[in-house]
Amino acid sequence: MGSVGGFLSVFRSHQRELVCGYCASVMALIDLRPFRHPRVTHVNGATVLPMGEGMARRVTQTRLASAREVQADPLFVRDPDLPCFIEHSERQLDYLARQGGEPVYELLCTDCGANYLRSMPHLSAQVRRSATSRVTVS
Ligand SMILES: [Zn+2]
Repeated sequence: MGSVGGFLSVFRSHQRELVCGYCASVMALIDLRPFRHPRVTHVNGATVLPMGEGMARRVTQTRLASAREVQADPLFVRDPDLPCFIEHSERQLDYLARQGGEPVYELLCTDCGANYLRSMPHLSAQVRRSATSRVTVS
């Protein structure tokens, strides 16, 4: 029993909820199964497809440039969300630079609007380490 249980646990599937680090809402489900591609499903039911690192970098750079333009506009200069968004986008570019060209999954929180970029090696390591079914992305 012990050895069979040990063997089976290696092949156990891991299904977890990915939770927003800002507001604790469930953003997506991640399903890791042996011999299958990992699957990420948004809470609205849509499959989250991985985005190439180059594409993710361009999208993030475009958003960052737009945010900086808006921040330079006197009408929006006092928007408290802008500095956060700019810092967040800069952190995402750093993150992409550290993932060694891995594709990333964009996780969007429909409750608070936060967005996260995560590579599958990073997500699966977090899922495997998690003691509960809820994995906080922050
Ligand atoms: Zn959120």
